[in-house]
Amino acid sequence: MKNIVVLSGDGIGPEICTEAVKVLSAASKKHGFELNFIYKDFGGCAIDHYGTPFPFDTRSAVGKADAVLLGAVGGPAWDKCAKRPESGLLELRSSLGAYANLRPARIYKALEDSSPLKREICQGTDILMVRELTGGIYFGKRGTSESGDRAFDTEEYSGAEIERIARVAFEQARSRRRRLCSVDKANILDSSKLWRRCVEALAKQYPDVEVTHMYVDNAAMQLVRCPSQFDVILCSNMFGDILSDEASMICGSIGTMPSASIGGKAGIFEPIHGSAPDIAGQNAADPIGAVLSGAMLLRSLGYDAAAQDIERAVELTLNDGIFTRDLSPVCVTCSEMGDAIAARL
Ligand code: NAD
Repeated sequence: MKNIVVLSGDGIGPEICTEAVKVLSAASKKHGFELNFIYKDFGGCAIDHYGTPFPFDTRSAVGKADAVLLGAVGGPAWDKCAKRPESGLLELRSSLGAYANLRPARIYKALEDSSPLKREICQGTDILMVRELTGGIYFGKRGTSESGDRAFDTEEYSGAEIERIARVAFEQARSRRRRLCSVDKANILDSSKLWRRCVEALAKQYPDVEVTHMYVDNAAMQLVRCPSQFDVILCSNMFGDILSDEASMICGSIGTMPSASIGGKAGIFEPIHGSAPDIAGQNAADPIGAVLSGAMLLRSLGYDAAAQDIERAVELTLNDGIFTRDLSPVCVTCSEMGDAIAARL
């Protein structure tokens, strides 16, 4: 039996997690393994109950978990809190040592008309973004001058940090189409020059993977010009943050995109979107991102066939013209979408 800690969080988090658990439970029943779901407060709801977004009780459960399924955190109710719900995310990732963020961006045939790009450009998009998650500018030295009119943030990476994330990307490329594009700004930034040197050095251990390097500004342009040229894209924390949102939009709706943050003892699996306070409580959210995050969770635990089944059930559901409101005005509710996916397993 595997222990899955569910951190539903805020806004639409509980709605989409309910559907992800519904589908995971159906998959585990079909494939004959047991999942034990343990629900804990996290984010804004934890601030309400404990005064902190990542309380001891949650931290202790996460420390013993086989995997963490996360909804989303944050919302206007906590925007003025000294410690915002989102700070819990950084603490959670650090506490689990989750340094590698994997974000697949694959377009489903049924969603080609939902992409902001023309069908002939978006079709065939199947990218895995590998983003470094616990280093770089979001964790570097920062400050604001006393007068408040100067501020700085620092991008800093060690060779070891670059090598470990690059290794994840090479391994992922090996399990896919064996092409890796490393994104940097090596024409200007020292940290990027080191990034490129480390990726080139590691490439010698992966002669079967074709490696290219691309400046981040060009990568942003190439993603909308011809997204199907990419297989695995390797990025630093900030570049990956930006480019992965761009890549996700190509695929139709932010609501359908999953992610996995791995590297430590237990992985964190969550849709890439936020808590969507504008639609929370309406049973209107798209649960597909959470459901597909559940599939990534199963794969991380070695339940590959069940993961594949979930991905196939999502595709069948969309092919049958079943959409939530983000994808079509003729739509089903969040819970009906969960039912539809579970029924196709
Ligand atoms: P958001 O992703 O919550 O919403 C952006 C837009 O996408 C909204 O119009 C929303 O309705 C829509 N959307 C998002 N997910 C959807 C889904 N599953 N189905 C249908 N529509 C969906 O981003 P935001 O509005 O910038 O942020 C809202 C809150 O979420 C903020 O407090 C922010 O800090 C937080 N946030 C949390 C996470 C996280 O928990 N990992 C990530 C991003 C933002």
